[in-house]
Amino acid sequence: MSTQPLVAILSGAGISTDSGIPDYRGPNGLWRRDPEAEKLVTYDYYMGDPEIRRRSWQMRRKNRALTAEPNDAHRAVADLERSGVPVRVITQNVDGLHQLAGMPARKVLELHGSARSVVCTQCRARGPMTDAVARVEAGEDDPACLLCGGILKSATVMFGERLDPVVLGEAVSITKACQVFFAVGSSLQVQPAAALAGLAADNGARLVIVNAEPTPYDDQAAEVVREPIGTALPRLLGELAV
Ligand code: ZN
Repeated sequence: MSTQPLVAILSGAGISTDSGIPDYRGPNGLWRRDPEAEKLVTYDYYMGDPEIRRRSWQMRRKNRALTAEPNDAHRAVADLERSGVPVRVITQNVDGLHQLAGMPARKVLELHGSARSVVCTQCRARGPMTDAVARVEAGEDDPACLLCGGILKSATVMFGERLDPVVLGEAVSITKACQVFFAVGSSLQVQPAAALAGLAADNGARLVIVNAEPTPYDDQAAEVVREPIGTALPRLLGELAV
């Protein structure tokens, strides 16, 4: 049995801004400030309107999350895991950058799914986003599932969709089990991320918040760090490495 403390890292949009990805989903994110853009990622509008789907596919063609590279903060998390410390990532991001930085996929819980995959709304088959986008580039407005003809969507959790209960259950288990819980680049104003930070503190984990702006959980944190994530996280995680 490992004697190393389990480290949980909850990451939000702020960890990926150094990779050039803006905050879409947060309280002040792009989607919340633009109702027309928000329709493109709202399940009922998407399923009910071919024109919304056509515009969604055009948006996905330009999605910076698909071409972005991990930054020093993502690499620091992967380095800690490689050093032998048990690490689990719970992320609000859909960009896949923790895995690209070297975190094993099985140790990353994507609360809001992944923009790097598509899923069929009918048969639930999954495939790479790059394949679907290639079909759009080749002229299809709204590429359908190749297996059943159903409507394809990004494998992200749209507004109006439930989070995956299995992923959420694992996130809760890790939050309860960890000894250290980092909340990085998250406003902690969107559920379930907010509740997880509180749950970690209530269960006796050392809560460390790394975020430029104050969060509702700063009072419960053992440490609050305001410096840029790209320098703060490598320093903080470096202190934990074996
Ligand atoms: Zn299908």
